[in-house]
Amino acid sequence: EDEIPPDHPRYTDLVTRHRIERGVEKGITHLQGMHAEGRGSAFDYLLGEETTETADEAERAAAAHLLSADQPVLSINGNVAALVPGEMVELAAAVDADLEINLFNRTPERIGAIESHLREHGATAVKGLEADARIPNLDHERSKVDAEGIYSADVVLVPLEDGDRAEALEAMGKTEIVIDLNPLSRSPQVADVPVVDNIVRAVPNMTAHARALQDASEAELEAIIEDFDRERALEAAESRIRNGL
Ligand code: ATP
Ligand code: MG
Repeated sequence: EDEIPPDHPRYTDLVTRHRIERGVEKGITHLQGMHAEGRGSAFDYLLGEETTETADEAERAAAAHLLSADQPVLSINGNVAALVPGEMVELAAAVDADLEINLFNRTPERIGAIESHLREHGATAVKGLEADARIPNLDHERSKVDAEGIYSADVVLVPLEDGDRAEALEAMGKTEIVIDLNPLSRSPQVADVPVVDNIVRAVPNMTAHARALQDASEAELEAIIEDFDRERALEAAESRIRNGL
């Protein structure tokens, strides 16, 4: 990563790919995560590799949701852990949320590797190890969550989430924030707040918004939440991609 010149026109993309490769080597990221990264990279290219105005609004709405939540939880999978470990720890601190490891391909080894990786990046508490509750209507391994974590959360941030689990969480009645570069994927389609942006830009920007809103009243947060239009956000992202082509 240190060898990639920061002025390279595709710096972020190169760094992102490198982090996923390192994640695979360290046993944090599943090989399938590398394919997911490839799809994300293609959509980021079509979106211009920048945070659009609409994505910024979504990130602010996401921050408002997390700040006004009773029990917010940030979900971490193998790609999230490889790409933004320290940034997720910072966001969790800014909104007073828990971090929970939640894997599509769950093995004790990967759970352990991700937990250590998060602790190396400043996490003091990591959920997802108990796995003492189940998300209804999902097959066994993928349904495992913590009773005191995602299971009982009111607001969940699920970046790069698989469509089935995003739908199952939505069916549980949770307020769901999804970060996904493909606006047509099922996960952003079912989200209350679809954030169509690269996670490496989205998470730090959510933290910045959360810090700016730290002293906002519940009414101010509520107004930001109400103002956000999920359909418009999805349409704006899709038309940006179409016009980009
Ligand atoms: P499904 O419709 O079942 O969700 P999918 O093709 O979306 O299928 P996933 O495994 O859910 O398959 O794909 C992961 C998603 O994460 C993709 O939509 C991809 O665009 C997105 N993605 C990958 N890397 C990033 C990233 N760095 N930032 C944001 N989104 C990303
Ligand atoms: Mg998807």
